[in-house]
Amino acid sequence: MAGESGCKVDTVINTYGLASTDPIYDSIDEGLLARWTGADDRTEMGYRSLTAWFNKRLLRRVYTDHGRESLDTRIDSDYETLRGDDDLERDDLVERLEAAGIPGETVRDDMVSWGTMRTHLNDCLDGRKEPQQATTDWERESVETAKAVVERKTETALSSLAKKGDIDRGDAAEVEAQVQLGCPDCPTRVPFDVALDRGYVCKQHRSQALPSHDL
Ligand SMILES: [Zn+2]
Ligand SMILES: [Zn+2]
Repeated sequence: MAGESGCKVDTVINTYGLASTDPIYDSIDEGLLARWTGADDRTEMGYRSLTAWFNKRLLRRVYTDHGRESLDTRIDSDYETLRGDDDLERDDLVERLEAAGIPGETVRDDMVSWGTMRTHLNDCLDGRKEPQQATTDWERESVETAKAVVERKTETALSSLAKKGDIDRGDAAEVEAQVQLGCPDCPTRVPFDVALDRGYVCKQHRSQALPSHDL
């Protein structure tokens, strides 16, 4: 599915010269695969957390190169701000970064989506993850599969639309399908994964009895 020349993850690794920080891995790709599959007694990571891990490595690299403090807490909070919904806060941070000589907007654009990370692991690196606890996580997997189908069909449609000139560079676009859950009592809408991670759809309208996995 990915082009022969690699995906955005590969481009970012090359552009920023991202290397493995762990001496047991020769490359950051090896480290990504090991974290994804839970090799070497690592805790298995999903696409979402691997994407955040990767993007934070990128941010840390840029900060280090520009002599900006790169403690975990700073990286975490700046990452949240750069990827968050608060436009004002984000613009403010980008401005402060630019003042320090760091191309904040470019770095933000160079961060990858989890859909791209999934393509990179499965297609570019030809990785395979054994479903170790297939029964515990089939619900999440099922929705992931549905989203993957939507993304693939959209990519096919986009490539045709791009050829017809209906969407310029549509074939190069990153497609990310999202399943939104809406609160039945107010306009709150959250992505399925977010609701699953936090255990409820709407904070204001969650039932009084806490869901079992919050206890
Ligand atoms: Zn790739
Ligand atoms: Zn609500």
